[in-house]
Amino acid sequence: MPQTRPRVVLLDRDGTLNEEVHYLARPDQLVLIPGAVAGLRRLRDLGLTLVVVTNQSGLERGYFSNADLEAIHRRLIDMLAAEGIVLAGIFVCPHGPDSDCECRKPKPGLVDAARHALGFDPAEAFMIGDKQSDLDLGLAVGALPILVRTGYGLETESAGAAGAAFVASDLLQASAFIAGRLEREKPRGTAAP
Ligand SMILES: [Mg+2]
Ligand SMILES: [Zn+2]
Repeated sequence: MPQTRPRVVLLDRDGTLNEEVHYLARPDQLVLIPGAVAGLRRLRDLGLTLVVVTNQSGLERGYFSNADLEAIHRRLIDMLAAEGIVLAGIFVCPHGPDSDCECRKPKPGLVDAARHALGFDPAEAFMIGDKQSDLDLGLAVGALPILVRTGYGLETESAGAAGAAFVASDLLQASAFIAGRLEREKPRGTAAP
């Protein structure tokens, strides 16, 4: 098979994959949102590579440690692996809003790091999240921004959801939207392989 560049879905974590918890600090607080697993499975079956990009300012604020975050992500990886879903990476900004870092969403640093690690074109990617900063990140890197109404999504929608290509009830509906986009990208008049 020819080596092809991965096509990536950039996923926010809190409020998109797992239920929003104010500064989620322990693995046992991790609860997957209904529809998240089915949505991720659909994205996987479309041949897409799944990458998490998440702001975790609770690290800099001292609300939890790096070891706590590793345990949380280990549990997330295990819960998804049990469903046959593999994350290609979890990219974290540990900084607070005043640190002027280059990686806190909507700044593009996390996507730059993911791109260097995985070799994909952000302009062909999708960005799914529940906050305006997720949509703005998508716009900043040329990815197609999709809002989910889970987590803070309803508030984001009420505030205008600027730049959203689609507003989905959850990750499952977002995955159906992406499936439709990919279907329309196929050249016409050619048989499926
Ligand atoms: Mg979120
Ligand atoms: Zn940062």
